[in-house]
Amino acid sequence: MCSTSALPQVSSSASIVRVVLDVPLDRWFDYLNPGLTVREGNRVVVPFAGRQLVGIVMALATETDVPEHKLKAILQVFEDVPFDAATLKLLRFCADYYHYPFGQTVLASLPLRLRQIKPAVTRKMWLYQLTQAVPVDFVGKRQQVLAKVIARLQQGECSEAMLAEISAGWRKAMQLLMDDGFVSRREVIATRPSLPASDQAPTLNDEQAHAVNAVLAERDRFQPWLLFGVTGSGKTEVYIRLLQTVLAEPQAQALIMVPEINLTPQLESRFRSRLSEFPLVSLHSHLSESERLQNWQAAQSGAARIVIGTRLSVFTPMPHLKLMILDEEHDTSYKQQDGMRYHARDVALVRAKQCGIPVVLGSATPSLESWYNAIGDQGQAMAPARKPTYRLLTMKKRAAAQAKLPKIFCIDTTHSPPEAGLTPQLKQAIELRLQRGEQSLLFINRRGYAPVLHCSACQWLADCRRCSAKAVLHLRQRVLRCHHCGDEQPVPVQCPSCGNPDLRPVGQATQRVEETLQHMFPQARVARVDRDTIQAKDALTTLLSAVHAGEIDILIGTQMLAKGHDFANLTLVGVLDTDSALHSPDYRASERLFAQLMQVAGRAGRGDKPGEVLIQTAFPQHALFAALREQNYAAFADELLEERMAMQFPPATHIAVMKAEAADYHLVHAFLSDFSQAARDYVQAHATSLPDLPLIYEPVRPGIAKLNRMERGYVMLQSAHRGALQQFLQVAVTWVRTHPLQAKIRWVIDVDALEY
Ligand code: ADP
Ligand code: ZN
Ligand code: ZN
Repeated sequence: MCSTSALPQVSSSASIVRVVLDVPLDRWFDYLNPGLTVREGNRVVVPFAGRQLVGIVMALATETDVPEHKLKAILQVFEDVPFDAATLKLLRFCADYYHYPFGQTVLASLPLRLRQIKPAVTRKMWLYQLTQAVPVDFVGKRQQVLAKVIARLQQGECSEAMLAEISAGWRKAMQLLMDDGFVSRREVIATRPSLPASDQAPTLNDEQAHAVNAVLAERDRFQPWLLFGVTGSGKTEVYIRLLQTVLAEPQAQALIMVPEINLTPQLESRFRSRLSEFPLVSLHSHLSESERLQNWQAAQSGAARIVIGTRLSVFTPMPHLKLMILDEEHDTSYKQQDGMRYHARDVALVRAKQCGIPVVLGSATPSLESWYNAIGDQGQAMAPARKPTYRLLTMKKRAAAQAKLPKIFCIDTTHSPPEAGLTPQLKQAIELRLQRGEQSLLFINRRGYAPVLHCSACQWLADCRRCSAKAVLHLRQRVLRCHHCGDEQPVPVQCPSCGNPDLRPVGQATQRVEETLQHMFPQARVARVDRDTIQAKDALTTLLSAVHAGEIDILIGTQMLAKGHDFANLTLVGVLDTDSALHSPDYRASERLFAQLMQVAGRAGRGDKPGEVLIQTAFPQHALFAALREQNYAAFADELLEERMAMQFPPATHIAVMKAEAADYHLVHAFLSDFSQAARDYVQAHATSLPDLPLIYEPVRPGIAKLNRMERGYVMLQSAHRGALQQFLQVAVTWVRTHPLQAKIRWVIDVDALEY
């Protein structure tokens, strides 16, 4: 079990302190201890290259290789100990596996306040309780306040607010009582008020009960579970039941991970209201830094029993962790795209294994990686059979009594050409919903007004000035905005290339669809949900309440709307345009598209009225739509998996990508060519002694060759064996770190890369 193992040495005699720092060098740094009390895990301040940095103490020693005249002293020790041994072990694993400097791995996992050169003060809140009767002579005639405090404590446990009502000077009196052991206190964490208990516990159906029982039967050991349940099958209900049982054990903690917390505000409130007896904190990027620190410390101290967070929360120290849950496990936002390129799902698996606890991965459309791990394979001509390592739990029907899966149809746009983005059939279907007083959702995964601004005279297209990408027209703000780097430029009044004043927006995006619908259905109440409309903190919550209250007739949105929302009166989902994704050169595109469409289709028919999904496409015969119409993810996944096996793509093989970028592409190319050549030479030289060394590809440029003024390139490495790939990467990184060009470019190894 994960428990905070005592941190060993506390010493002032060992005079060398070995620390890790947030610098891109993969090593420890030795400092002299000038007589301060230091222990392993402490935060310290040290001088480094003319600056002061925060470091974490890894070890105390009596000797060092650093010559005496070069040895500098630590400047300050903070009392807090951010890490326990279990968390450090997890971080060590990640630094090794992702080939990222350990010091940076460790420090990046901390809340910002703990990376700053000052003590981490949070206002903790306490509850005070008498532990024994206080003799009369203890108070004597000394203090009125003391007597009042005792009298109040005799009525029961007191919060600080209650005590403050007695007297502003209560703290001093309380300190006297605590010093003499009459009072103990325990930390409480601020919890937001939970919803009224209207969210009653339903009786589990057979599929749910089976899932809950299966996991609970093996809750005392490491076991990954893949909870594969269609949208609305009641996965969240399963999580809640698991938590209720696991947390009934004293002190037990659980970690729930979600892709993007701010997109699913009602998920958090559902946990809060159904599990109100357990203190819950959330950890995500929308918190203020002081909230973040406070919540993190509540998790670390054990005061928080439930932590609900996004990918970084996978590293949160939790001394009594007994269960991990990853909702929407297929979501690509679990993969970190800068710094250490970790995948929170994979890290969760490692953590669960280290802790010896179950981990539940939930999805209606599991990632192919997880699917593969859950079903295994029969073996192929070249590869041996693989036994499944995950256990599969399937939930095929919607849980709520009346809710049925929606019917899915394709509209062939070659026969019914869309006008302003909408086919006549889709328009009719919306009209029908308006007449019936039901709601519609239109899905288009592109925000802005139009993806392209075009000159019909000379074929000029508006580009981003910093990226090799088109600039998207945002008509309302009258700007061209790059969705990759955020750069904005004014909309030109005439073509910069030929002077033609007649520039036309081409294609559809959310703003333009909104405009079309307002013209088409002037009486309808239309709302748009994309990154542009919900920037403000509570904008999405406000909008969702308006939908629930029936104040909106038609919703237009990007994938933001696809996740987890439950609209009882929504009976139509229209999908405007997915054909570009259908034919993307990225081999993962169809897996993603299927998940996205299944998710967005899942918004229809969640109440007692049946739902309908209409997909506009020029390729209705495509296998992806056939599987989607039958809502048969398993068949689709099996087919994709076979394809990946044949092409030797993940998850059939393992990949890592050496990525490099610089302002000057020549440097990138020179570096990557060198790397690729040296790698191939190494592989050739060791081909007989080390089997399964990776296949090394030539350097290539990614789809977006220039991003934010940086020219990019990469080299792909691929092997059937994870271990062999890892061994090779270790050699490769050592080689790179001494390469003359490595300081002139930015490079990173993206292990299990999803994008390149
Ligand atoms: P998922 O997470 O799989 O999308 P949810 O847990 O959100 O599904 O459940 C979908 C809906 O079904 C919710 O409104 C929920 O309250 C309801 N529900 C879940 N389990 C049951 C059940 N056993 N009986 C009746 N309704 C249920
Ligand atoms: Zn022109
Ligand atoms: Zn750009």
